[in-house]
Amino acid sequence: MNPRQLDLLKAVVNLPTAPYHEQYVDQFISQWMLSLGAGKLLTSRRDRAGNIYLQYEHRPRSKRKLVFEAHSDHPGFVSLSRSRKGRLRAVFRGGVRSKCFAHARVRFWLPESLSTAASRRTLPYISGRWIPAEIASVKPGRQATDQIVELANVAAALPPGSIGMWDIPDARITGSMLYARACDDLAGVAAVLAALEELVNRKARASLTVLITRAEEVGFAGSLAALMNHELEPSTSVIGLETSSLRPESPQGAGPVVRVGDKTSIFSDRLTRFIGATAADLTHWNNDFCWQRRLMDGGTCDTTAFQAFGYDAAGICLSLGNYHNMCESTTRISEALRAGPEIAAETININDFSNLVALLVAIAESFHKYNPDSAALKTRLSKMYRQDQRPLLFAHTSNKIS
Ligand SMILES: [Zn+2]
Repeated sequence: MNPRQLDLLKAVVNLPTAPYHEQYVDQFISQWMLSLGAGKLLTSRRDRAGNIYLQYEHRPRSKRKLVFEAHSDHPGFVSLSRSRKGRLRAVFRGGVRSKCFAHARVRFWLPESLSTAASRRTLPYISGRWIPAEIASVKPGRQATDQIVELANVAAALPPGSIGMWDIPDARITGSMLYARACDDLAGVAAVLAALEELVNRKARASLTVLITRAEEVGFAGSLAALMNHELEPSTSVIGLETSSLRPESPQGAGPVVRVGDKTSIFSDRLTRFIGATAADLTHWNNDFCWQRRLMDGGTCDTTAFQAFGYDAAGICLSLGNYHNMCESTTRISEALRAGPEIAAETININDFSNLVALLVAIAESFHKYNPDSAALKTRLSKMYRQDQRPLLFAHTSNKIS
């Protein structure tokens, strides 16, 4: 696997983040763009809700708009008060069962100085340190996705608004597995950045927007803001990149998953078919490439929101282990990768990741061939019937009606 892609993946999944508090991912992307030196090939803007739009443009062959979307948050804590005598009150946002909080450890991010800008081609570094804390109690918050948490043994003074995550070490790779505090959806963010790097390095002919949305874990807040404020042209095709809870039929290591739907909807038939055809093409000339086509109905993702607002929308995901850090106490995983009896690192397969990047690059480069016309499949089937099948079908029958 490409070492630069692996470094990028590890750097992004190590970033502190929580729903509505994605500033370090934002900072990282700003500095990454500066260090990339892509010139006019890559430009960026932010909308009023803080979603990021990275526009790659080089001699495009079609006018149809393509968006790759990934979200920059992960279920996490935000401190509500200043820590006093080792105690702190925080809100946890995101879907984690409350029983998993029992006897778990948390770490809060304390920034140390303004982060240093990356030099050319080196990855940005966000400067700060993690402050450990322990969970003392949990009760339901005002929103369905909120829990109010009291923390004890907080090892330093922390201001309100500090980001907390489970006390899991920085990303590590064992065999082909990556273990990290937050694969969902920072691995999706890393994949789209890696795909952009590849397009920039090759000066590929393509036009696409990478959209990094905020606060998905509380119910697609960033995507809904983009949709309600008409940030995307109606004819845009949107491909959502996610990590999604693995299923027995979507094992890790069997390739990125072309996701035909989620818990709530079935995605664009035409766009999903185009992605599948692009993936099938890749298998012809790349022996290491594999992919799967599955329904991942463990949760509902941003693609459902884009689809509900009338966009041509599809999804690709990585099969995710220990979804939202929930991990049964009986699951075999190193103690060092646990933050409690039922909390542990999330996992993805790094070959799935590199195949996802390859697929994204191939989609971007061949998107001019995409025919969103719903009659295209009917036309192809009709032609096959008339040219190849009908003469044979009627050659040996007395039935002359065709
Ligand atoms: Zn997600």
